[in-house]
Amino acid sequence: MTDQTYDVVVIGGGPGGYAAAIRAAQLKQSVMLIDDRKSADGKPAPGGTCLNVGCVPSKALLDSSKHFHHIQHDYATHGIKVKGVEMNVPTMIERKNGVVKQLNGGLLQLFKANKIEFVNGRGRLLANRVVEVTDDAGTRQVQGRHVILAAGSVPFTIPNVDIDNEHIVDNVGALSFDQVPKKLGVIGAGVIGLEMGSVWSRLGSEVVLFEAMDEFLSVVDTDLSRAAAREFKKQGLDIRLGTKVLGAKVSRNKVKVSYTEGGEEKEAAFDKLLVAVGRRAASESLLSDDSGVALNDRGQVDVNERCQTQADGVWAIGDLVRGPMLAHKASEEGIAVAETIAGHHGHFDLSNVPWVIYTDPEIAWVGKTEKELKAEGIDYRSGSFPFAATGRGLAMGGASGHVKLLADAETDRLLGAQIIGPHASELIAECVVTMEFAGSSEDLARIVHAHPTLSEAVHEAALAVDGRAIHKAN
Ligand code: FAD
Ligand code: NAD
Repeated sequence: MTDQTYDVVVIGGGPGGYAAAIRAAQLKQSVMLIDDRKSADGKPAPGGTCLNVGCVPSKALLDSSKHFHHIQHDYATHGIKVKGVEMNVPTMIERKNGVVKQLNGGLLQLFKANKIEFVNGRGRLLANRVVEVTDDAGTRQVQGRHVILAAGSVPFTIPNVDIDNEHIVDNVGALSFDQVPKKLGVIGAGVIGLEMGSVWSRLGSEVVLFEAMDEFLSVVDTDLSRAAAREFKKQGLDIRLGTKVLGAKVSRNKVKVSYTEGGEEKEAAFDKLLVAVGRRAASESLLSDDSGVALNDRGQVDVNERCQTQADGVWAIGDLVRGPMLAHKASEEGIAVAETIAGHHGHFDLSNVPWVIYTDPEIAWVGKTEKELKAEGIDYRSGSFPFAATGRGLAMGGASGHVKLLADAETDRLLGAQIIGPHASELIAECVVTMEFAGSSEDLARIVHAHPTLSEAVHEAALAVDGRAIHKAN
């Protein structure tokens, strides 16, 4: 017997699940949202990985550490002399925790304002869209006309490296060190490794990243990954490609890592070790055997392009399903599913999802890379433009990096964009809009861009596709 029936029951309150719940409520659906996350003081902490131990806290620390780094390394050229700069790590962590707490509270208010029944507990899908809900008050069952699974992801682990979140940490531990580790080891030079490695390196850690692949940042083109590798090297990030970590052991407050490099077995000692080797769908203990929902061979909930699972009326979104593990991808899927459920035309295009790595310089891209276009046999033209040739870039003093645009050789339709440099996270939006509207490089070239701005580099890269950039030799 179920206690109550809802139009929509959402399991998981991250950026996918909470956006779905709010949109469904806006469309007059009765909604229950179940999320199990609690803060350190035992209060409900909606917002998922992203808000609590992902996007938001990592960006808070990236900002704090960037201030510290700039004061020491960049202010002098502006004529600013600063003496006696010190870092108070507990204050930085407290500020980060405050940002998270404020946003947790904001979400709880939004749930109330939208009349969403929020449960701080665990949900499990049984047969026929019945959801078992367990919280501090006990266990009950509710019926969903529709159920949206949005349980997110958890970090991968590797053999012989046991995470204790004190010495050997995942993203959770790396966001809360109480002091700057003198030596920080990182397994995985991917997005988390680079972002968290940057935070602690800017604050004074000696950071070594062990990367299994021989190629650095293989998701982007080599001009961009090479430029990034050069900048990171200058900043002191020691990225060891083609290394295989064999194991890690904690002894006398140090982490000893054994690894192979160039066929040789080696050892290194660190104060902390961050494991950042990717994430996997959190599909364990979410489904009963007779839920009717199937998993694929990667343990993700199997869905079609509209996020429908194989069980009637059951949908799945975000990190739990195929596609990039990004907050904005999860949210847009959640909104599209809520709209479809309410009888609207929910729409979401996976091909134009932008990626951003919030290092310094920032790295952002969308659409196809040159590698992919070549592999697919698509003829293209490319145009690139360096920030160093823009007035604003030089005036700011953050002029390294470039914009590269890729357009179809025949139709000129914009197929991809890659940016490395200041505010790449913001500049990529213009390229996403152009691609979403099926625009061309000529469209971008004919749009008026304010002067002096960094966006002029996007404009000039569009002109360069046609060999007519103004501020560089074509
Ligand atoms: P999640 O955010 O994982 O939310 C799922 C929620 O469901 C969690 O709170 C979980 O506890 C809960 N849950 C799971 N199972 C149950 C259950 N059975 N019952 C009840 N509740 C359950 N992405 C970006 O786009 N930009 C970034 O800058 C960025 N930075 C990141 C930095 C780090 C360190 C990490 C780890 C990730 C980052 N990501 C970033 C990725 C982003 O966090 C995820 O893509 C996003 O959170 C996925 O959203 P989601 O709603 O699918 O799942
Ligand atoms: P990732 O996939 O970005 O990087 C993992 C890296 O670890 C890869 O380079 C991989 O080759 C390497 N690796 C895997 N196994 C290894 C091993 N045994 N030894 C050494 N290296 C190994 O994963 P991540 O950095 O853990 O982040 C997880 C996901 O979270 C990202 O893919 C992304 O979707 C999301 N995220 C996004 C942002 C952002 O948008 N700015 C920030 C952080 C995380």
